[in-house]
Amino acid sequence: MRINYHIHTLFSDGSSSIRDYCEIAIQKGFEEIAFTDHLTVFPDGSADPHSLNTISIEDYVKEIKSISLEYEGRLIIRLGVEVDYIPGSENIIEKILEGYDFDLVIGSVHFIDNVCIDSLKHRNLVENMIRENGFDSLYSKYLKLVSKAVETGFFNIIGHIDIVRIWGFNPADGLKDEQKVLEFIKEKGICLEVSSRGLRQPVSSIYPSLRILKRAYELGIPVTIGTDAHSVEEIDYAYDFLIEYVKSVGYSHITLFDKRRPLKRKIE
Ligand SMILES: [Zn+2]
Ligand SMILES: [Zn+2]
Repeated sequence: MRINYHIHTLFSDGSSSIRDYCEIAIQKGFEEIAFTDHLTVFPDGSADPHSLNTISIEDYVKEIKSISLEYEGRLIIRLGVEVDYIPGSENIIEKILEGYDFDLVIGSVHFIDNVCIDSLKHRNLVENMIRENGFDSLYSKYLKLVSKAVETGFFNIIGHIDIVRIWGFNPADGLKDEQKVLEFIKEKGICLEVSSRGLRQPVSSIYPSLRILKRAYELGIPVTIGTDAHSVEEIDYAYDFLIEYVKSVGYSHITLFDKRRPLKRKIE
């Protein structure tokens, strides 16, 4: 069983088409994949240029639905989206999400005070923030945003929960903040994504850190798996390592979604 629940296509900032991903997924033995292009909408209603918008999302949904019918019996294709949590755009997001029958919605935080933390263009700004107040302060601020994302109730999955470590920083003492957000995730019945994205970034670590994953397991938080693929080459990036990582803390199941309903699946 191979699954990948985090894939970007030409509809947002990916460089491969939906069809190309489906072909490679079958070749590489995947049973189920979810397309999760970016939906980044700012409080003024404008969408990020690398994101889906209210017009392109129509075509995105249509294309995924028609291609999934074509691949029936060969590959399970889920309709997903990776939504940016940006304070102030909750109402807009809610309306957009209501308009489509997504299988899963990932909630991710990429922005702190208008700074896109995982953009190379903003790396200096992030490092300035760290120089000024220390990484722990930024980490804490980041996890507060994650917590607000959880509170909206819009999301099935929290994406790369500690991507704020991207540029190679790690919290000296993030325990208390991590604990709080994880308990909230558990309370709200949300799933945590385990992602190989960070292995391709300066931090060179899976998201989340082992400490977070262990705590998530103790709390009984379900997990799912994604490579955050932006091209077909990344569809199975460090896939076996991801599975071993999840199993190493005790997980025996991962969670899949069908029309927003969680399905448990044994890890083989
Ligand atoms: Zn993301
Ligand atoms: Zn992503």
